[in-house]
Amino acid sequence: MLNIKKRLTELNKIYNKIPKMECVPGCSDCCGPVNFQQIEKVNLNRFLKTNGINKKKLLSLDKVISMIKSDSSDEKFMCPYRKDDRCEIYPVRPIVCRLFGIVKHDTGLANLQCLHSDAKTYLTEEQSYKLMEEVKRL
Ligand code: SF4
Ligand code: SF4
Repeated sequence: MLNIKKRLTELNKIYNKIPKMECVPGCSDCCGPVNFQQIEKVNLNRFLKTNGINKKKLLSLDKVISMIKSDSSDEKFMCPYRKDDRCEIYPVRPIVCRLFGIVKHDTGLANLQCLHSDAKTYLTEEQSYKLMEEVKRL
């Protein structure tokens, strides 16, 4: 197992494989119940501490899955870091948020479409799942 510093370096390398796209300022259309992988929680906690942002309770993976399945739009299941339609933790948002808008939907399995995407390059669903797995294994 790599130490934390190396794991965070690897995490950022994975993030850097994701094509860049600019979000529309003030848009939070894709924010909902969201899951952070273990190393992403470490990344998040460091960012919160450095920036003096209060830590908020994250949803459990089971809760996220059940919310997605039930397609609930209830505000209480919203990501706790959405504030005034902005992401408070944008630089350390988890991989699932970074994949929104840049995945080409070839099988219809992923639901990461952004109507505002200006991405020049896209990932296939398979590539996006592979990157999510890489983060999970860190
Ligand atoms: S990915 Fe698209 S929907 Fe999500 S916040 Fe960015 S612009 Fe909005
Ligand atoms: S981490 Fe940020 S971008 Fe992702 S769901 Fe939460 S508020 Fe939205």
